[in-house]
Amino acid sequence: MFKAVLVEKDAQSYRAAIQSLDEAQLPAGDVTVRVEYSTLNYKDALAITGKGPVVRQFPMVPGIDFAGSVESSSNSSYKIGDKVLLNGWGVGENHWGGLGQIARVKGDWLIPLPSAFTARQAMAIGTAGYTAMLCVIALQRHGITPGSGEILVTGAAGGVGSVAVAVLSKLGFRVAAVTGRPAEAEFLRQLGAAEILERAQFAAPGKPLAKERWAGAIDVVGSHTLANVCASLRYGGVVAACGLAGGMDFPATVAPFILRGITLSGVDSVMRPRNDRLEAWRRLTQDLDIKKLDLLTEEIGLSQATERAALLLQGQIRGRVVVNTKT
Ligand code: NDP
Repeated sequence: MFKAVLVEKDAQSYRAAIQSLDEAQLPAGDVTVRVEYSTLNYKDALAITGKGPVVRQFPMVPGIDFAGSVESSSNSSYKIGDKVLLNGWGVGENHWGGLGQIARVKGDWLIPLPSAFTARQAMAIGTAGYTAMLCVIALQRHGITPGSGEILVTGAAGGVGSVAVAVLSKLGFRVAAVTGRPAEAEFLRQLGAAEILERAQFAAPGKPLAKERWAGAIDVVGSHTLANVCASLRYGGVVAACGLAGGMDFPATVAPFILRGITLSGVDSVMRPRNDRLEAWRRLTQDLDIKKLDLLTEEIGLSQATERAALLLQGQIRGRVVVNTKT
């Protein structure tokens, strides 16, 4: 038997609670993993609360990430005791996920845990941090360097944003952090932000073209914020867009694209090919300061995951939340 968060839905209710489950209930897969740490991402919070249509079948163990060691394997790439990591692939959405003590998945979805990280550190990074790294790589692939100018990060005090600020500053970029929480200004400065901007100045409908300010941007918010970010990119600027914390719409004009040659680079982490994942995790071992990771990480136990999920969706969680599955 093992403990896990189980999400159940019927005509009357949508509920998530810790339950004791039998390993025989685990889904099909060729590798069984003893999960040491998982984490809470935005998508996990949607799955736990039912506030977004993330879970595709019920009952579901949520958790789009986990790190742990292989307990049994019929996959030739993995043997008992190997340290592994999983991000995405629909796990926690349509296949039982990481917010439990044991997970069974396709070995092809796993990658080896980078030796530079413990399972806890890898989950402190989690999908949010790995996506932040994919966004930084996207900016760099489009030619953005510290010499290009300032980089804007929206939703900066959240999971993706805080790791993005830390990585960009370590790489020598000057970072402007957008937050709706002025109380987190000092936290963002400690992560490496040079300038703190108020969320409200990006949230309302803006002009098709604004003053040219940013060489690049990482946006987790979408909607008017993303439109305003595009409108204020410098000539040839690039925005890596990965999120919808402020809305799924994109009320923009083509003006910055056709008059300033800006690039909108979409970033998906879930179905990302294996080589891109390996590259992003390799870059995290190199470009993320572990001391800053500690600064942005809070640890909770499995039993606290449901209450924290609601706070995360209210934008009340700072940085990243790791979930210790033993407690
Ligand atoms: P968090 O909840 O940790 O952070 C989101 C942050 O966005 C908040 O902390 C807050 O930052 C800001 N925010 C929240 N609500 C609003 C709002 N209404 N308007 C403007 N800003 C807001 O989530 P994550 O960082 O984990 O994820 C961020 C987004 O990225 C989510 O939409 C998530 O689904 C998406 N995502 C996408 C991935 C992909 O593969 N494309 C992978 C991972 C995440 P502050 O308080 O500083 O303003």
